[in-house]
Amino acid sequence: MTDNTQQANRVLASIPARDYQRLQVNLAPVRLKFGEVLYEPGKAIKYVYFPTDCLISLLTTVDKRRSLEVGMVGNEGMAGMPFILGIGVSGVRAIVQGGGGALRMASAPFRVEFDRNAALQEALYRYTYALMAQISQTAACNRFHDSEARLARWLLMTRDRVASDTFPLTHKFLAHMLGLRREGVSEAANALKRRKLIDYSRGNMEIMDVRGLKKASCSCYQTVKTVFDRAQGRVHPME
Ligand SMILES: [Zn+2]
Repeated sequence: MTDNTQQANRVLASIPARDYQRLQVNLAPVRLKFGEVLYEPGKAIKYVYFPTDCLISLLTTVDKRRSLEVGMVGNEGMAGMPFILGIGVSGVRAIVQGGGGALRMASAPFRVEFDRNAALQEALYRYTYALMAQISQTAACNRFHDSEARLARWLLMTRDRVASDTFPLTHKFLAHMLGLRREGVSEAANALKRRKLIDYSRGNMEIMDVRGLKKASCSCYQTVKTVFDRAQGRVHPME
């Protein structure tokens, strides 16, 4: 069962109960389906989403036909980041990568609440810092790291956010996420499968060996994770 309480999303969990009560009035639990499009580039953002156990991919489109994942949002964050910066239009396409629950809020009441809720502001500024770091690291990763290491990184990031070692996944979907051709995805997935790090059949991905997958991943996985931990105050800047 989907847990739609405050504790199920880390941004909301960081807000004092008194502030959350005011916010809660406008938060509605929703079920998001795999493949559902939440935002399109250049279009108005009608709602912001606090994932509880769903996963949302942020994609940048090129030439109106090709797209590449530049970030992912799970229960550590919120989709609709431009609103934090005072912009009501999305720059990316946001698509549901893992079906599940979220708490949704219409953009107008969110704006009012954001302006008067200091705890929400602080949590979302910290999250925005981490998401920006994730987006820039992903850009460099896509340029410099090979497909096998990138796939390993992507699987680990997904695993952290869905809190599960198994999730539905197709090669076609992965190709869009990683900016690879389908054959490139198959090659990378087969290489990880041969090393017994993952198993993959009939649209279902299973992570068999997390430690091995971390070794196979590029350093971007740990870099982004450290930034998120720092943004949540779990790592001292000098560590
Ligand atoms: Zn990388």
